[in-house]
Amino acid sequence: VRGGRGGTRTGTDEGYPDQFSMNDKIVALLKLQEFDTSLDGLLQHQARLGTERDELKKKIQTLQQQFEESKKAYTQAQVDKKNLELDIESKQQAIRKSSGELNSVKSNEAYKGLLTQIEEGRKAVSALEDRVLELMETVDRLQKESKDREKSFGQDKGLIEKKIADIDAEEKRLQAEAEEKTKEREAFSQALPEPLRRQYDGVRRGRRGTAVVVPIKENICGGCRMTLPASVINEVMKGAALISCESCSRILFIPPKPAAEPSPENKEVAS
Ligand SMILES: [Zn+2]
Repeated sequence: VRGGRGGTRTGTDEGYPDQFSMNDKIVALLKLQEFDTSLDGLLQHQARLGTERDELKKKIQTLQQQFEESKKAYTQAQVDKKNLELDIESKQQAIRKSSGELNSVKSNEAYKGLLTQIEEGRKAVSALEDRVLELMETVDRLQKESKDREKSFGQDKGLIEKKIADIDAEEKRLQAEAEEKTKEREAFSQALPEPLRRQYDGVRRGRRGTAVVVPIKENICGGCRMTLPASVINEVMKGAALISCESCSRILFIPPKPAAEPSPENKEVAS
């Protein structure tokens, strides 16, 4: 037996209980869509929080690195200073040795040689002492810098960790909300006629975050913005079947006209 109703109906909505009118179906699908939209929103929010947390963790790492580098520079300056002091010590020993030998040398030549050695040794020691003084300033500066960094690192780390804990708590809350909403969605979806549910899920598959049921506005599909043929719009208006957009497969409906604003005259009459 042929249907004889004609039109571009999608064919999956046949056999619904009579009490399920076309309008009821659209209303039910819009409700299902509302669940999905808010679930998508929760997922996006969770993803944003994840990114935020990654950035905060990276920030802690960077601050720690800066603090450790500054500590390393301080330690290195101390080592450099110590090495210079040892260098000075050994040069002074050499000077003392040469000075001791001055009285025991036989030739004038050797005597002059020792004096030259002593003089050069003293010059070298003097230059090294200048460098030690410079390094002492550097050590002081780096020590202060390293202490400041350590202190601010401790404070910043505390603040950032607090933010991360807030994010963790917010994420947990969103997770619970999403689980609750998913349960509600499933319960609602299971109460729908199976072909209707299948049609909706089929359109939604592979395009999370976009609408499945879209309004027709000025003959344009609210999903893909294509102008719809008059025949399709007629079928939607007849309301005998769920009609899909031929280009994007979304389920089409005609939004109810907004309730007319009471005119000023009516208001006067009413009051
Ligand atoms: Zn479309």
